[in-house]
Amino acid sequence: MRHVFPPAAPACVPVAGSDALFPVHRIFCVGRNYAEHAREMGFSGREPPFFFMKPADAVVPVTAGETGRLPYPTLTADLHHEIELVAAIGQGGSNIAAADALAHVWGYAIGLDMTRRDLQADMKKQGRPWCIAKGFDASAPISAITPAAQAGDVQHAAIWLEVNGQQRQASRIDRMIWSVAEVVAHLSAAWTLRPGDLIFTGTPEGVGAVRHGDVLEGGIDGLGTLRLAVA
Ligand code: MN
Repeated sequence: MRHVFPPAAPACVPVAGSDALFPVHRIFCVGRNYAEHAREMGFSGREPPFFFMKPADAVVPVTAGETGRLPYPTLTADLHHEIELVAAIGQGGSNIAAADALAHVWGYAIGLDMTRRDLQADMKKQGRPWCIAKGFDASAPISAITPAAQAGDVQHAAIWLEVNGQQRQASRIDRMIWSVAEVVAHLSAAWTLRPGDLIFTGTPEGVGAVRHGDVLEGGIDGLGTLRLAVA
């Protein structure tokens, strides 16, 4: 069998401290997974987790010590940052129990769920899908992936984001409404997870707009930092 044109190479994310690459299969994202962020978006309470997706090739991998380039997307005047813990699935499965879920996580990274907030608000108002607001090109900047065994106590780590040296977001992973294990359990009830799936686990409060020339720097204890300039 021959392809009618060469298949695209898989999107890959570097592995921290190694020359290995993590091939990306799909990108799942969790909506409103921190109570304070749910409130700032006009919601309250512990609703069941809900999901949306980005294309695998939306990743913008940035290794430690590097300043990545984040192209300002078309069609928006309100590009928002959302700093998030990313869980990288190494072992797939369906209907995974929360108690077993962390064994399916190969490693962790720092991610930015970049969002065209103006378009998202329009789509919400009209009851339309969020794709254009969430799944655009280069909408998923990500650090190198740290293997789980080297990532320390990620479930209790601090998470933060600065823009031009000013703090915008600061929280802790244990303030997530649904833990990484619970997110994996819920996701795997709806999709059969595969090795290479990335899960953006939601952002804490403090989301806001970025402009051309801004420098974003975020981090999660044990995973290093992620630095990008908006170009
Ligand atoms: Mn998000």
